[in-house]
Amino acid sequence: MILNFIGKGSSFYPVLGSTSSYVVVNGELYVFDCGETVFDYLYRSGLLDRYKNVNVILTHLHSDHAGSLGSLISYLYCIKNTVINVIYPNESVVNLLDLLGIKRSFYRHIMITDRWSDDNISLTPVIVQHVENMLCYGYIVNIGKTTIYYSGDSSDVPEEIAKAYLTGRIDEMYHDTATVRSDSHCHIDRLCELFPEGMRKNIYCIHLDGDNKEYFEALGFSVV
Ligand SMILES: [Zn+2]
Repeated sequence: MILNFIGKGSSFYPVLGSTSSYVVVNGELYVFDCGETVFDYLYRSGLLDRYKNVNVILTHLHSDHAGSLGSLISYLYCIKNTVINVIYPNESVVNLLDLLGIKRSFYRHIMITDRWSDDNISLTPVIVQHVENMLCYGYIVNIGKTTIYYSGDSSDVPEEIAKAYLTGRIDEMYHDTATVRSDSHCHIDRLCELFPEGMRKNIYCIHLDGDNKEYFEALGFSVV
């Protein structure tokens, strides 16, 4: 597992923290999503003292994915004199931060529409099905020789992603996995339908709506 997880819960199961993860590449910190519990974790863990260059990649703006972003940006700018990169394929994040009173000079919004890369990582956003009133993005991520897919909140696995995983072009998949049926999140039965038993080990369940680790692992999936 290439990512380190800060939290793995859904918004209705805050016990497990907001689903978020990070990876450090060549001394730069990359954080996937910044929900309600994430700034607190980053602060206490010392990661913000250790790494000067911070990048936050957002999947969408629900508060369990972006709820502590404003505080993270303000803290780093005002206390650590750091301007962070906020990577998100939509201008709406700037509107949200405007409403929260975060000055535009406190952060850099990196607007990506297609494959984007810096010296350490490359990201390709994939629009996924989540809710009707907001776009949500999954990402194909390349770090060194490893390719992963990070789903964000998604009610299904896009066809090209499932195919890429099944043919070995994606090494690890991190996917929203629910036990409650809805149009917003991916039910565990759907993952079972898409991926045969011997192919589930490198699919890591995230955004859990209960303590389902043993249940998902018994089906052959991994849990972060
Ligand atoms: Zn959501």
